[in-house]
Amino acid sequence: MRKTNINWLKKKREGLYCVPGNFFIDPVFPVEKALITHAHTDHARPNNKSIFSSKETIELMHLRYGESYCSDFQIARFDEKIKINDVTVQIHPAGHILGSIQFLINYNGYRLLISGDYKRTKDKTCLSYEPVKCDTFITEATFGLPIFNHPNDQSEVKKLIKSIKANVNKTHLIGVYALGKCQRLITLLRNLGYDETIYLHGALTKISDFYSKNNIKLGNISNISECSRSEYANKLVFCPPSSLNDKWSQKFKNVVKGYASGWMRIRQRVKQKNIELPLILSDHADWGEILKTVNDVNPNEVLVTHGREEALVHYLTKKNFKSSALNLIGFEDENE
Ligand SMILES: [Zn+2]
Repeated sequence: MRKTNINWLKKKREGLYCVPGNFFIDPVFPVEKALITHAHTDHARPNNKSIFSSKETIELMHLRYGESYCSDFQIARFDEKIKINDVTVQIHPAGHILGSIQFLINYNGYRLLISGDYKRTKDKTCLSYEPVKCDTFITEATFGLPIFNHPNDQSEVKKLIKSIKANVNKTHLIGVYALGKCQRLITLLRNLGYDETIYLHGALTKISDFYSKNNIKLGNISNISECSRSEYANKLVFCPPSSLNDKWSQKFKNVVKGYASGWMRIRQRVKQKNIELPLILSDHADWGEILKTVNDVNPNEVLVTHGREEALVHYLTKKNFKSSALNLIGFEDENE
């Protein structure tokens, strides 16, 4: 990390550390106190002593990790300012997945906003991103290149509905990430009037049930194991991306394989994964959304992490923002 405005933020082996607060943000190794932006596994790891996050994130971590999710937790609420040692922390929605939040950390009047993963596109499965004025903004850059310009989500989902109608004898097998993408794609299908039962691979049911319990309406969903082989034709089945080409998927004989991800913009990935029906559906901000967000939060300084740091840093520096890359380790793009 180059010299930044903030000398009270340190990069340690465990992750990003706030000195006057004595806590880490999304640490990659267990720590005493962790602030967690959201429950994706590259941000929320087990075995921290104490975690501070939204109610949904804490419950999702419990669901995924069992008793190792933490020893002690504190639920963050939107209407509260929490004092942690010498800083004050407020949370704001990040619009990424259910429970995803940003942290606004105030130390002696200086405001640091840590966005975690975020997007600006409306998503019925979570609260919309809230821009907050700050002095230093830490942004992700998963899709931080000008070539990333996510298409309209409804147009992408219409492609799936059209394909189902055109291939009535086939099973549509769609790869989706278990937390967030799966449920967002279901709600988009429901909004467009698709009201048939959607079948899920066993690895997707627990989190989808959690969304349902949190009043995200998913309609009729069912575990595909409850369906006999003779009934597979004309069914819509979601599975984790890793299952698209494994042994499990071989039981479906006449299939259209799809994959819902922001990475489907890249032709090479579509080919590599042998995808006939790529659906470009991202839960991260694209290039335009990142720039819009930087303008909205209007910081003196932008620190860039997770992905294409250099291009964004170069662009923002040209636009007279003080900007540098955080270069954190341990973050993956496969959750997209
Ligand atoms: Zn994420």
